[in-house]
Amino acid sequence: MKTEIVSAQECAKAIKLLRDGEVVALPTETVYGLAADALNPDAVAKIFEAKERPRFDPLIVHVPNGKMLDEIATLESELARKLMEKFWPGPLTIVFPKREIVPDIVTAGLETVAVRMSAHPIFREVVRKLNRPLAAPGANQFGRISPTTAQHVFGELGGRIPLIVDGGATEHGIESTIVQVASRVIEVWRRGPITDEMLRPFGEVREQTSPVNVGAPGQLPTHYAPRTKLIVVESLGNFCVPPGRRIGALAFRPVAGVTDSGRPRPTTAATNASSDFAAMHHLTERGDLREAAANFFWMLRELDAENLDLIVAERVPEEGIGAAINDRLTRAATN
Ligand code: AMP
Ligand code: MG
Repeated sequence: MKTEIVSAQECAKAIKLLRDGEVVALPTETVYGLAADALNPDAVAKIFEAKERPRFDPLIVHVPNGKMLDEIATLESELARKLMEKFWPGPLTIVFPKREIVPDIVTAGLETVAVRMSAHPIFREVVRKLNRPLAAPGANQFGRISPTTAQHVFGELGGRIPLIVDGGATEHGIESTIVQVASRVIEVWRRGPITDEMLRPFGEVREQTSPVNVGAPGQLPTHYAPRTKLIVVESLGNFCVPPGRRIGALAFRPVAGVTDSGRPRPTTAATNASSDFAAMHHLTERGDLREAAANFFWMLRELDAENLDLIVAERVPEEGIGAAINDRLTRAATN
């Protein structure tokens, strides 16, 4: 199959394909999604095929408005309503009891459905004009690095899907926060751009930690993984590169004396041992966690393409969206 990449001006092509039961890759404010009509089980099956995603992993459904949310889910919780008022449209996915109309293939047989309302102008326009809910997981092969540009999607799914709408690099760079609401408690199934700190004013925030819980397979212990072996360290400053090994580094921010061999910086004798990385990326120049999140997946992807023996990634500060980056790092790691 030939995969076409088109600009936002050609959104009509995406809408036509979606109406015809095809899949289309679209930008959202988090990462690129692979969309299909959520009420058409044959169309949704094509998402699983293109991604080689196991059928037990349920999909997030995007709605254009509250009316469509009411058609696919029951809204019993006042707290959920408050979260929607505050964070929708935006990168927050809420798990609701589902209605009959949602096919089992979308929810992997669960009685709940995860729903989101994207703020991305392209995604919004498509879902509004189509006026159908869209199932849309990340537009990557199952378990691999999430795509934050149209070119990444092409690298992952080129030849398997008919169309990618190019909206440039995505804003947040990591997947939506997923929550389920129980009376006064907000259970966080997956950390993301809507941070614990942002949720706390609305209720008690509890993290769902069980790694094998079927409710949230984005919680699989290994996910978002590069092909290259990856380990996570607290600080790159103490890491010594063994001679003869091609090791790449994913650093939080520039640290004096730690650099890649291709772009030498002045180093002291004391720090020389750690300056022989074959490749290095800094998630942020200024120590800004939002910038770090936006850069995370593409930098991981760049390192994965360097033919390295190992990627060593540094944990970032565990605050705000940093908690979500660390969560992705842990799942990408082999240690
Ligand atoms: P993604 O593959 O990044 O689009 O995210 C889909 C993820 O949403 C799944 O892997 C689950 O973690 C989560 N999810 C989808 N539906 C549900 C649900 N009904 N209950 C809990 N989590 C869900
Ligand atoms: Mg995914």
